[in-house]
Amino acid sequence: MVCVLSWVISNRYLQKIAKGSVRFNFKLTLRTYIYLLSKFYNDMRKLIILLCFITSYTSWAQTNVKALVGGTLIDGFGSTPLQNSVIIIEGERIKKVGRMGEVEIPKGAEIISTEGMSVMPGLWDMHTHLMLNGHSDYTHWDKTYKPPILEKVIMPSSAHQLLMAGVTSARDLGAPLEASINVRDRINRGEIPGPTMYMSGPFIQHKPYPGTEDFRWGVNGEADARNKIKKLAKAGVDFIKLIDQDEMTMEEVNAVVDEAHKNNLKVVGHSHRPEEIRRGMKAGVDCFEHTGLSSAPEYPEDIMDMIKERTAQMNLGPLFWTPTVEVLYNYNYIRDNPEQLDNDSWHLDLPDSIIQDIKGSIQQPGQLPYFQLNPIRKPTLERKMKQLKDAGVVLLIGTDSGVPLKFHSQSTWNELDVWVNEFGLDPIYTLRAASYWPSVLMGVDKDYGTVSAGKYADIIAVKGDVLRYISLLQDVDMVIKHGKRYK
Ligand SMILES: [Zn+2]
Repeated sequence: MVCVLSWVISNRYLQKIAKGSVRFNFKLTLRTYIYLLSKFYNDMRKLIILLCFITSYTSWAQTNVKALVGGTLIDGFGSTPLQNSVIIIEGERIKKVGRMGEVEIPKGAEIISTEGMSVMPGLWDMHTHLMLNGHSDYTHWDKTYKPPILEKVIMPSSAHQLLMAGVTSARDLGAPLEASINVRDRINRGEIPGPTMYMSGPFIQHKPYPGTEDFRWGVNGEADARNKIKKLAKAGVDFIKLIDQDEMTMEEVNAVVDEAHKNNLKVVGHSHRPEEIRRGMKAGVDCFEHTGLSSAPEYPEDIMDMIKERTAQMNLGPLFWTPTVEVLYNYNYIRDNPEQLDNDSWHLDLPDSIIQDIKGSIQQPGQLPYFQLNPIRKPTLERKMKQLKDAGVVLLIGTDSGVPLKFHSQSTWNELDVWVNEFGLDPIYTLRAASYWPSVLMGVDKDYGTVSAGKYADIIAVKGDVLRYISLLQDVDMVIKHGKRYK
């Protein structure tokens, strides 16, 4: 057949000879014939490769269909959970969501039973520190675990641990710039396992504390503030982390927020001290972190007025706040019941030398200076959270995971547990604070935050009723991120 075809092609040349437009030359004809033949073989080879690719892609797409069948779906939108649910995942995305009997399961789909399970969006943790892992001595840690070990070992292991805990998206609030970008991008390229990360890179503040210059950038004047933000934006960070803004001039604070917004970056501000909140509010910070105000019983009236003035403005979107309460709330419990520190979930991907280093530093949890004021701060947390919630602030789940005694593998479910079981917040409200609302703040709610058609398949499931027993999240049974099953 090949010969016939090549003859047909070369025949055009022969016809030209017959017409006399080209003079007959046997050598030339043979050469043309061989040329056309080889060209034809080449084209056929390309065609066969293309056909093979199309066939294998089609069969890959077919086998890459998953159907999660039977469980109760809490979709993240906040309405009544859907019983006997079916979720069809095609490749990385959710294709269809509905009830058993109503949604057709495609032929050849991998069927995963979720009978008896609660199914929900993958969790978001809005305040993590990948560069830390529970060690009690920051000075020692920062000195010992710098890049490259920070980038190659510590941060990837933290990310992997978060993912295994059901966290499919997370915000990282402060780490060296290059390491932050590289770890995030390696996860996104599928080279290492971890949540979809949103990185701030270095903190922006008045002056870095000695020895922390790698991940804390001081600003000196308005122009310097703008330059530093431009540099971070150019490097590709996902948002700006502002801290100690009460030590900066108001011009500097305004410049940071304005330049960030010009570069389409949200600003996340610390709120440890009253003046940090006031300045952050004035400058237009988008999200505040921690309840702050140390052991003071509540937010003062003028701050509450500012917050209510802000939440009244629909055109600005919601005011977000990540109260990070579990780290303070659970301290007494961990001090008195340290057995949970021996849970080896936080060892994942860490070499033994680092595990021993961390273990050694938390032998006496009751004697850590970092936590001594916690028992006095603890009773103020519920009041402060209630003030914020009543003022219309949208609260987000975030943990400060990585700080002393706080492991990435355990922090997130503990935060949800305190909200629901200690402060009496509604479990669906709490789950939305760990799924839907974070995606809105980060501007990715078209792709993330709920289990609904068209979004990335970031889905987790636990055996049992998570709305009745939120602490079931301490052992997530199924983790799917971008359609790929990790657990
Ligand atoms: Zn933090």
